Amino acid sequence: MNANDFGALVQACQGIRFIPEILEKRVRMTFIRTLQNIISNKTCEDLWKKMFLLPTVLLVYNSQDAKSIKINMEKRLTVLESGAAWTFTLKDFVQTRRRLAVDDTDVDAQLGLQAERRGRQVSGAMRVGNLSKAYATLVSDSGTAPLDQVSKVLHEKNPAPSPEVQATITPELWDRINSVKLSGDERVKFSTESLLKSIKKKKKGVSHGFDKLTWEILQQLVGREPDQSSDQVEFTQLLAKVLSLIANGDMPDEVAPALRDNHIMGVGVKVRPVLLCNTLRKLVTGLLLDSTREKVAIMFDGIQYSSMKNGVEHVIHSLRAHMDTSDDDLFLADAVNAFNISNRTMGLGHLVDHFPSLVPMMRQMYGSNATLWLRGLDQVIEQISMQTGWQQGDVAGTFLYCVTTLPFHKGMQNLVSTHDGKVFAFVDDTKVKAPFRRMCETIRYMDTEGLKYGYQRHRAKGTYLLGRCRSLADAKFRKEFLVEEFGMDPTRIQIHPDNVKESGDEDEYKLACRLYGAESLGGLIGSKAFVEDGLTKKLVELNHDADKLIAHPNVQERMLLMQYCFNLKPNHLLRTTAPYYAKKFVKQLEKCQQRIVAASIETNTISNTVWAQMKLPIPEGGLGMRSWDSVSPAAYLASVIEVQQSIRRAYPELDDALNHESDDSLPWFIRDIRQAIEQVHSKDATVTSANVLTFTGAGQDSLQSILTSKLESGAFDTLVESVQQDKARVAMLTAVKDQHAGAWLRAVPKHFTHMMMTNREYSTALRNRFYLNQPFAPAGKRCTCAGNPAIDEKGFHLLTCRHGGGNQKRHDALKGHLFRMLNHAGISCTTEETNEWSRVGGDNRNLRPDISIAASQLYPRRTLLDITITHPLAGRNVTAQHSVQSQTMAIVQKKGWAADKAFNTKMSKYSDLSSRNGLSFIPQVFESTGYIRSEVLDLVKKVCQHASETRKIPAEVLFQYHIKSLSVVLQRSNAETQLNRADTVFGSALLPGVRNLMRYDAIMAHSVVHADVGWGH
Ligand SMILES: [Zn+2]
Repeated sequence: MNANDFGALVQACQGIRFIPEILEKRVRMTFIRTLQNIISNKTCEDLWKKMFLLPTVLLVYNSQDAKSIKINMEKRLTVLESGAAWTFTLKDFVQTRRRLAVDDTDVDAQLGLQAERRGRQVSGAMRVGNLSKAYATLVSDSGTAPLDQVSKVLHEKNPAPSPEVQATITPELWDRINSVKLSGDERVKFSTESLLKSIKKKKKGVSHGFDKLTWEILQQLVGREPDQSSDQVEFTQLLAKVLSLIANGDMPDEVAPALRDNHIMGVGVKVRPVLLCNTLRKLVTGLLLDSTREKVAIMFDGIQYSSMKNGVEHVIHSLRAHMDTSDDDLFLADAVNAFNISNRTMGLGHLVDHFPSLVPMMRQMYGSNATLWLRGLDQVIEQISMQTGWQQGDVAGTFLYCVTTLPFHKGMQNLVSTHDGKVFAFVDDTKVKAPFRRMCETIRYMDTEGLKYGYQRHRAKGTYLLGRCRSLADAKFRKEFLVEEFGMDPTRIQIHPDNVKESGDEDEYKLACRLYGAESLGGLIGSKAFVEDGLTKKLVELNHDADKLIAHPNVQERMLLMQYCFNLKPNHLLRTTAPYYAKKFVKQLEKCQQRIVAASIETNTISNTVWAQMKLPIPEGGLGMRSWDSVSPAAYLASVIEVQQSIRRAYPELDDALNHESDDSLPWFIRDIRQAIEQVHSKDATVTSANVLTFTGAGQDSLQSILTSKLESGAFDTLVESVQQDKARVAMLTAVKDQHAGAWLRAVPKHFTHMMMTNREYSTALRNRFYLNQPFAPAGKRCTCAGNPAIDEKGFHLLTCRHGGGNQKRHDALKGHLFRMLNHAGISCTTEETNEWSRVGGDNRNLRPDISIAASQLYPRRTLLDITITHPLAGRNVTAQHSVQSQTMAIVQKKGWAADKAFNTKMSKYSDLSSRNGLSFIPQVFESTGYIRSEVLDLVKKVCQHASETRKIPAEVLFQYHIKSLSVVLQRSNAETQLNRADTVFGSALLPGVRNLMRYDAIMAHSVVHADVGWGH
């Protein structure tokens, strides 16, 4: 098979992401032999082709059933190992398309099917821990363009090089590019360390190219450091060598298409081109790029901001500073199809000058036309030839584009720098600040010189903001000139509102204010009215995401995606928007969040105090919903501090201005910064405008989170203050303000099914944490247990009732996890052992400890564990008249008071007896709220340290895993207990004749109604 045809594999099935353990070694050995063959004969095309096809041969199966994969993989391995290889035809790997189960013309059914498929994709990405992919899938708009449309657009996006570009491609240029040959020390040599590091940090669940090789498979093949087996070490070393050969251009040109060609897709209604690069190419390119970073930072400094940390923010804050302090014009240019028509041959020439070590590989990838393979319906594949430009799916695509256009951007900078102008490039986004005449020259340069680089200015797009002119007439003249001379769209040229004001027309002036501004790199710069309008539009997007989240049927996944993705989304905006402009926005943002949370706890309204608690960070007892009015100034200030060098370049008086006596005469952006500083200062007097610019992040904490917590400080105390009269509420707040109590909220189920919670369990657990009425515990009902106590609406009696066996189940669930944890760490232990306490002190056969741990490295003496679960409202059994009401406030506000009491009781009962029997005794006390006493933490820590040595996993990782597991196990069994007990107590009385499951769902859906009716006292 010719390497030019490998792309046809786009039609084949997806590669599997896991090799059955029993065959793993054989697969690895097959890869090892293939790699060895190449190293011993690197000029043999066939050997290379075999390597590139090996993942298809071993990892692609028509049936996804685990058992049949195993059987077939074994067959194929046997054939390969016997030497009688390569007798497969492509047909064996081609997808047999599943027929759609619904009528093509039934739109509703189609949409239903699509939604269902998407739901599965979201859950799938969650399962492998790729939350950002899950979120992107969830919020993306459904729908695809018809295939012929896709094909048409993709062809248009990949045109032949323009005559201007062609004119620059001379034989001399090619001679220069082809003359690069790496020898001796210049040769690239990847170390196994950097290779391992690179493979290890790759995300799971990423789509592969037509090579069918995934990061998961590579991760499995290289194994885990520092515990690699000898064959894993060998595989890694050989792979590093072969990748180095590719980097040095030693791969025969004939097989280069295996890496150069790509799988292309047109995504969504707008046909966004997505290129799926092959995995080995990504790997080599990534490793090569690592070596360029230092040089890039110097080369790009002050002009191309794409490789800079916080580069986008550098640009946005600088533009704002320029706008506020100068009457120059700003032009934010937009390029047409930038990557795809860029002059790649010229770029290769620049590589020769600055990054020769990249030339051999890039020459093979871009020296000739790549074929992009588009998969159609029923075996139809279309090929698109990419004749110019850089591939957007290439890891190096952005870097190559920036290197290509750097001289172009520098040329612009030279034109304007003598007139106090400035050019900002962010990949293909170009922004210029200059006085009018200079700007015109620059645009002329863009339109002529740019074409040689493959840069085409988009005439209908881009934004031109005229600076303040001498007169309105002057401004109008300039606008007209821009339209006529450069073909700009007049609606995209804005006259400065101060000039419009001259006309005396108030409406005109207002309109000019609203229009004066630009959205640049996701940030908004311009007048207050413009920015506020822009923020409103962003809010529409966020509400759209919120709708999608609410529609996602799995509550646990929904809340995790909210926490890890949705809540971070406004961050960029808030870092680049002055808090003064964002006031309305943050209020509405909160409403948007409330909608999502309310849907998840199935309520219509969330009271102010409950929401105040939810805004707290999880270790503070909240839900991490953030106080946006604190985040906003903290984010903005942190961003300003982190990009201060650029702001100072634009406005050298920055430091003096911040310390100026009064705001008068200062530019607006400085006043905004001063206001943000003032807000932090009012909470922490050590932060002043004189020292704030020297602040940095510390360790794990970013500067923004440090500033945010300064602004949020005291929120918990204020909340407790506001509910002072309700002792139970105070006790519950105190209990959940704990580092580990909310661990279950951060547990991503991944493939650990024991971390999954059903919707009912999750909502119930949320309501427990926030002290909300449970829909299954209507007011005025009495329990069937001794004394028929009244049942509280929070459902806490149902949780702790002595009847129904719920307490035993909760207890056993925790015991089960601790036992498994000990076992997993290889520590010998038993449960419910008799006779432990019978050696001394009489016959205690009936007293059985929960877990007995044999004397070991962990504990020098045989150690007995006893597991207890308490409740902060009552110790053990909660009745409607919570016993906490009779406690003093000092006790109520002492975290774990009930747990302490239980600990002491257990100790006095068993400690003496144990030591007389030569045993240690350690009570393991949990609170239903999730608070765990230190003895449990100590045990888990000890076991994890022990396990980390044998299992070669960092102790901290294991610790977090077990704490989360225990937390989920507890919360889930809490919910189960409450729901089961409610079922038994109210059972047929509530909704006679309806089966359990139905009933709960019905109650939850109508919780408000039930609460109002007031069930028959
Ligand atoms: Zn009861």
